[in-house]
Amino acid sequence: MVMFHAKTQRSKAAKLPEVILAILSVFRNMKFRAWATRVLLIFLVLAALIVTLFIGGARQPQNQTNSRNSLDKSWNQYLPSQLQSVLTIKKKEKIFTPSPANNHQINLVYTTTKEFSKYQPDFKQFRVDPSNYGDRYTVDIHGLPLNNQAIIVLHETSNSVSSAINFFQTPHDDESVQASYHAIITLQGTVVYLVPPEKRAFGAGNSVFKGVNGVETVQTNPSLPPSVNNFAYHVSLETPPDAWGKNNIDQHSGYTQAQYDSLAWLIAQSQVPDDRITTHRAVDVAGKKVDPLSFDSSKFFKKLHSFRQFKTFNNANNNVSE
Ligand SMILES: [Zn+2]
Repeated sequence: MVMFHAKTQRSKAAKLPEVILAILSVFRNMKFRAWATRVLLIFLVLAALIVTLFIGGARQPQNQTNSRNSLDKSWNQYLPSQLQSVLTIKKKEKIFTPSPANNHQINLVYTTTKEFSKYQPDFKQFRVDPSNYGDRYTVDIHGLPLNNQAIIVLHETSNSVSSAINFFQTPHDDESVQASYHAIITLQGTVVYLVPPEKRAFGAGNSVFKGVNGVETVQTNPSLPPSVNNFAYHVSLETPPDAWGKNNIDQHSGYTQAQYDSLAWLIAQSQVPDDRITTHRAVDVAGKKVDPLSFDSSKFFKKLHSFRQFKTFNNANNNVSE
């Protein structure tokens, strides 16, 4: 067998110069023009091959970007975390509208107004220690899937902004002490970004939200009571100095106009409906939390409505109209 195989190899090798001679003689017999055409054809085929390989290579990272975007969809109902937020018309999340197969469905979306674009608050951003916040869960401790629509919970700092930030930046091992907000609005109206919106800030332990869908609360830690944190965006207003450090008061001098303006500006960028904007006092189960004290909700909503308006979004033709 081995011998026979070797013989075949040798005879193939012997034939090779004959093949080359035959090809050369074909070329020799060909007119130069026909030869040039063949060379051109071979060149074009090679070029096409290279272009195909290049496009294939370029597609690879593009797909990765797309898959990253689809992950982002799980938290895009929360507020933007960028210092300068990009204003876009967002489609309402599918989970908000249990939709029958209807191609001409009209969705409602909030869009920001001209008055909104005229208002430009100052920004700051501080890093919160990772012990004071966590991930947003997709299942609870029993493994049940979670799809709560976002709520916004309003607070007050009960002390200066700097003492609040100092607390959030300090590592806390004790789970019952860990705390954080997503944002604080200072007395001057500066928007202070803290925990990124896609993360779960620890703003309200042992809490429930009572909305049109009934009672909503989520348990993500077996050693802590259920809370709204998994689907909440926590915003806190800096308490006026006359109430700093005072625990047993039921009112104070209230918040500045700049605070109402910046709070409305921040929330106007979300798709969270008015009836899902609540307070720590309203969600607290133990009834001990009373913040934000002296909050003028009609003043706030009036400002919010001047910064964002409902628009209808028609799925059938992608038209946005008033
Ligand atoms: Zn609070």
